[in-house]
Amino acid sequence: MGSFCDCVAFRYVRKDRDMGKRSCCEYCGHVLTVKDLIPILSFVMLKGRCRYCGSKIDRRHVLTEMFCGIVFLLFYLRYGICPFLFRDLILVSILTILSLIDLESYILPDRFVLSGILNWSIFLYFEKEKTLYLHSGLTGALFRSVAVYHLYLSMFLIYKKETMGLGDVKMLFMVGLYTGLYGSLKAMFLGSVLGMLAMFVKKKRMIPFGPFIALGTIFVLLI
Ligand SMILES: [Zn+2]
Repeated sequence: MGSFCDCVAFRYVRKDRDMGKRSCCEYCGHVLTVKDLIPILSFVMLKGRCRYCGSKIDRRHVLTEMFCGIVFLLFYLRYGICPFLFRDLILVSILTILSLIDLESYILPDRFVLSGILNWSIFLYFEKEKTLYLHSGLTGALFRSVAVYHLYLSMFLIYKKETMGLGDVKMLFMVGLYTGLYGSLKAMFLGSVLGMLAMFVKKKRMIPFGPFIALGTIFVLLI
């Protein structure tokens, strides 16, 4: 899944919409075979270089594979096999794709945010307490998006330009469905602290918030 998410995000940013296409080297264009595409292992065995032209393979690919592997394992240890494990693993995949796209191009495409909302809605079917599921999800979603939308509007009025994106607000609505009201409070706090730290360390005014929203959400779902 890590490898798949990486591929979806990579091709989305490069406007390459043919998902059926075989993977090839970014530099020499050589079509990769099965032994070049084993997640993590191929990267280690090839010492991070293309088998055909020797170019360095971007580390983001192997890091994404490792990230998904570790997070998937943690979710399995936390929840065991149940329908909601699959709901959350699909969410983690969507969050990974959104974060990778945001890191590269500062956008959070609606189609992936909508897939997250759809995924949450489908699992209403497996929930015994349907009213509770709906109530908790919608309060979380409204709380997270409305709170940040206010911040977005005030920043806009103060600085007279967009300091944060509307994409963040939509993504917060989506993840709020999963974390509920109380979880949303924790996730927002955590996400903002991580985001501010990154702004401080990177000394940049503009940083993509998607990855921090994703990390805050994953953390809250795991504790
Ligand atoms: Zn190559």
